[in-house]
Amino acid sequence: MPRVKFVHEILQIMRNPEQVRNIGIIAHVDHGKTTTTDSLLAAAGIISRKVAGEALAMDFLSVEQQRGITVKAANISLYHEYQGKPYVINLVDTPGHVDFSGKVTRSLRMIDGAIVVVDAVEGVMPQTETVLRQALEERVRPILFINKVDRLIKELKYTPQQIMQRFVEIIKEVNSLIELYGEAPYKDQWKIDPKKGNVAFGSARDKWGFTVPMAEKKGIKFSDVIEAYNKGKEAVEEFAAKVAPLHEALLDMVVKFIPDPRTAQRYRIPKIWRGDMNSEIAKAMMEADPNAPVVFVVADMRLDPKIRRLVATGRIFAGTLRPGVEVWLVNAKKKQRILQVSIYMGPDREVVDEIPAGNIAAALGLDEARAGETVVDLSLKDTMAPFERLRYVSEPVVTVA
Ligand code: GDP
Repeated sequence: MPRVKFVHEILQIMRNPEQVRNIGIIAHVDHGKTTTTDSLLAAAGIISRKVAGEALAMDFLSVEQQRGITVKAANISLYHEYQGKPYVINLVDTPGHVDFSGKVTRSLRMIDGAIVVVDAVEGVMPQTETVLRQALEERVRPILFINKVDRLIKELKYTPQQIMQRFVEIIKEVNSLIELYGEAPYKDQWKIDPKKGNVAFGSARDKWGFTVPMAEKKGIKFSDVIEAYNKGKEAVEEFAAKVAPLHEALLDMVVKFIPDPRTAQRYRIPKIWRGDMNSEIAKAMMEADPNAPVVFVVADMRLDPKIRRLVATGRIFAGTLRPGVEVWLVNAKKKQRILQVSIYMGPDREVVDEIPAGNIAAALGLDEARAGETVVDLSLKDTMAPFERLRYVSEPVVTVA
């Protein structure tokens, strides 16, 4: 059962960029992106009081599945404590398939790190290579999750030595892709190293996973996992719940290895934004300055059927997003008023008064915006370079014969 957290507690954490991480999960189709997301949401979702009430009767995940939220949410916020400190981890939806609409690049711009999920049996596949290349091109730091290890145990009946050998092969392949597509100096710092702990091994379906440092600390051996599978379902469930919970392995890795938004924006802004790097707004974005004019980049526009309004979800690179304020849509060349600002609590949105730079937020009132739009303070109206150039084509005139 995820913790019930109140919106003011989450907002308090979000005010300190060091306690925020913006991430995505990328994978070849069928390697387990959805299953991994579900297991994180079930274990580490922050739930609003309203949902907590609904969840009392049944477990949280089934509530979520009933509502079909995992598939629908543009963002999911997770709560995690690491070494006694609380963190908010924003998990942005990144499309797995290759598309030409810019959606992949757009979502990669929202995140500073990505969990690359690889099926232990299939290994690195063409789409793993494509999404990893795209992530590295946007200076998104990868960490690795080798999934479906249960298949090595149950289907292939591998010994611990053979399992280790398989991991070594996969890590080697991932590192050669980081070497090929990464930029200096990042690619050297970003290589996967099991001893450091930036790779987890496990099973998203069975909800267990660990890194080498976690295994050393808790005294876990691979023969323990094999033994649990030999004993049966209950032993595996116990191992997942009590010894090596997958969400703990993955979210510890995220906090430790994915940079916080301020650290990331310092080296990512020069890469993902093509404006004048000597301008005041460039400096503000590189510092994720909450007191600067606002810069909000929309990644996703979708209709909330409950309130029948368009919701713009995006990342605040500078300033503080507040309701009631007029803003400028750089591509649409239009002025609009932000009507409401909210943050994600698990997959739900809760209304807040303000939300500072470095975070993922949702806004109502930007109906003229399209995904990819750069929304800025009116003082930047004549000078702001957009993150992405969008063509707003006017609706074709339909003539009735
Ligand atoms: P996605 O396409 O990357 O989102 O992959 P899904 O999460 O939908 O998983 C694809 C298939 O692999 C589904 O049938 C899952 O049940 C299965 N799967 C996911 N994780 C595991 C795992 O850890 N072990 C096994 N054996 N199957 C898994």
